[in-house]
Amino acid sequence: MKAAAFDYERPPTLERAIELLRAANGDAKVLAGGQSLGPMLNLRLATPRLVVDVTRIPELRRTADERDAVVIGACVTHADIEDGRVPDATRGVMPGVARAIAYRAVRNRGTVGGSLAHADPSADWPTALAALGAEAMIAGPAGRRHVPVAEFLSGAFESTLAADEILEAVRVPKLSARARWGFHKVCRKPGKFAEAMSAVLWDPDRGVRRAVIGATDSRPITIGDARGSVDRSRGGGADALSEHAVAAMLDGAGLGGDSYSRRIHLVSFRRALAQIQST
Ligand SMILES: Cc1cc2nc3c(=O)[nH]c(=O)nc-3n(C[C@H](O)[C@H](O)[C@H](O)COP(=O)(O)OP(=O)(O)OC[C@H]3O[C@@H](n4cnc5c(N)ncnc54)[C@H](O)[C@@H]3O)c2cc1C
Repeated sequence: MKAAAFDYERPPTLERAIELLRAANGDAKVLAGGQSLGPMLNLRLATPRLVVDVTRIPELRRTADERDAVVIGACVTHADIEDGRVPDATRGVMPGVARAIAYRAVRNRGTVGGSLAHADPSADWPTALAALGAEAMIAGPAGRRHVPVAEFLSGAFESTLAADEILEAVRVPKLSARARWGFHKVCRKPGKFAEAMSAVLWDPDRGVRRAVIGATDSRPITIGDARGSVDRSRGGGADALSEHAVAAMLDGAGLGGDSYSRRIHLVSFRRALAQIQST
């Protein structure tokens, strides 16, 4: 199938892109790497009157190395992160996540902003960036606002972005030298979306013990009481990775699903925890 006819604009500034979205009154789509929007247009799951290509806007490719964080423009590609062409706040965590996304051809075009804005719960960045404590930086007609990535997705394929807003960048806090990271996903082969995904960050110097479960039916789940589990895991206590304790925690966090899905999420979470234990 081919895409339905649409108008195409490639504005040079963020202000002009927002103006175009506003004038389209909800009947426009932003285009970044096109790795998700392209198939949606071709399958006519999306039939916008206007497509606004944002890949020529300099602000969306900008990176900034701040004192305690790195800002990464929304149009930075997975390959830019994988290859270290942008500063890394995460001591290798983000390049590692990028490297495991799909295939190189997808990573060459797919962007970190497009991945978040698409809001697929099985995608890697929503879970990884939520666990890293990143913020989404959003620009719209009313100005700029920041939202924690953990709250940016409001459901499967739904986000807090309004139709006339653009995701400008993500702000990723710098990890301390003692930080440990665990990330595990279950997918049948590279390029297939994950059936379960877990990210765990232990950064005691910043008081962070965060766990996020992705590839759920809705938005990724941030576990509020990961502190006990993560600390016990680091200490290697006998009950640290007990199946029962972890299953109870996932239940408490609201993980639903059938028994197969619950089982693979449980395994994925325990393997992510084991990574911080062993490093
Ligand atoms: C074969 C294949 C395998 C894949 N496997 C994986 C995988 O294993 N893991 C994974 O995480 N991802 C995977 N992906 C997704 C891919 O990584 C892209 O990140 C993702 O498709 C979206 O990024 P994009 O830049 O291509 O966005 P686009 O396709 O251009 O846009 C996606 C959506 O986001 C909106 N959008 C894009 N940028 C912005 C912005 N700056 N502001 C507001 N809205 C915006 C668009 O309007 C559209 O609705 C796969 C894709 C393919 C085709």
